[in-house]
Amino acid sequence: MPLLEVSNLSAGYGDAEVLFGIDLTVDRGEVVAIVGSNGAGKTTLLRTLSGIVTPTAGTVRLMDEDVTGLHAHTLVEKGIAMVPEGRRLFPRLSVRRNLEIAAYSKRARPKLAESLRAAYELFPILQERSDQLAGTLSGGQQQMVALARGLTTTPEVLLVDEVSLGLAPVMVSRVYDAIRAIRDTGMTIVLVEQNVGQALSIADRAYVVQQGRIALSGSGKELQSNEEVRRVYLGLE
Ligand code: ATP
Repeated sequence: MPLLEVSNLSAGYGDAEVLFGIDLTVDRGEVVAIVGSNGAGKTTLLRTLSGIVTPTAGTVRLMDEDVTGLHAHTLVEKGIAMVPEGRRLFPRLSVRRNLEIAAYSKRARPKLAESLRAAYELFPILQERSDQLAGTLSGGQQQMVALARGLTTTPEVLLVDEVSLGLAPVMVSRVYDAIRAIRDTGMTIVLVEQNVGQALSIADRAYVVQQGRIALSGSGKELQSNEEVRRVYLGLE
């Protein structure tokens, strides 16, 4: 049984339909990438999986439980965490406070001390900077806080939106090292990326979204060598 099973999912904003009949699965411990061009619907897909956008059709099952249409706060309790595009930290609160606030759920509260320890083990720089205001960190460090905050909710699956957006190349590789470290703890990760090359290099499997539909899917390796992917998304012939 997959950890996450999405069948025939459609969603949008009012009359504007964005996703049309998405089918995908995520197994426990996998890194699954969702890639595609700007505006293809990747962010909308993550928002729908995390309960921010309500589906208009289809189902989402988490560990074989139908969680379709549940609100974001309920899905956090069930173990779906979202690391949003643009990080959305509280810039005037300390790193530690940003992490503590993430543990508001019944699920996460009792494990706060353990979660902080684990986050600082993964990201030693965040321990050094734990009293620093989050808004004063570099972009890459802020992205690490955002990832750590997602983990502090003690999720079954971490949904990560555009983790490399706006970061300098050296920071992108550090953030990807961080994602590899998170994966190595056994965490299941769904990664939405416009940076297709990076995403495919880490993904066990990937889906290409075009105009709200899954156009292609396969292992990260298969898609890296797929001719269309190379031409359209990687700029290679
Ligand atoms: P990006 O990486 O640029 O976010 P994306 O593949 O994640 O691209 P989405 O952000 O999901 O794409 O956007 C898909 C479509 O939905 C776009 O046409 C966009 O204009 C539209 N859209 C996104 N957010 C909203 C919103 N809040 N209200 C109405 N339309 C929206």
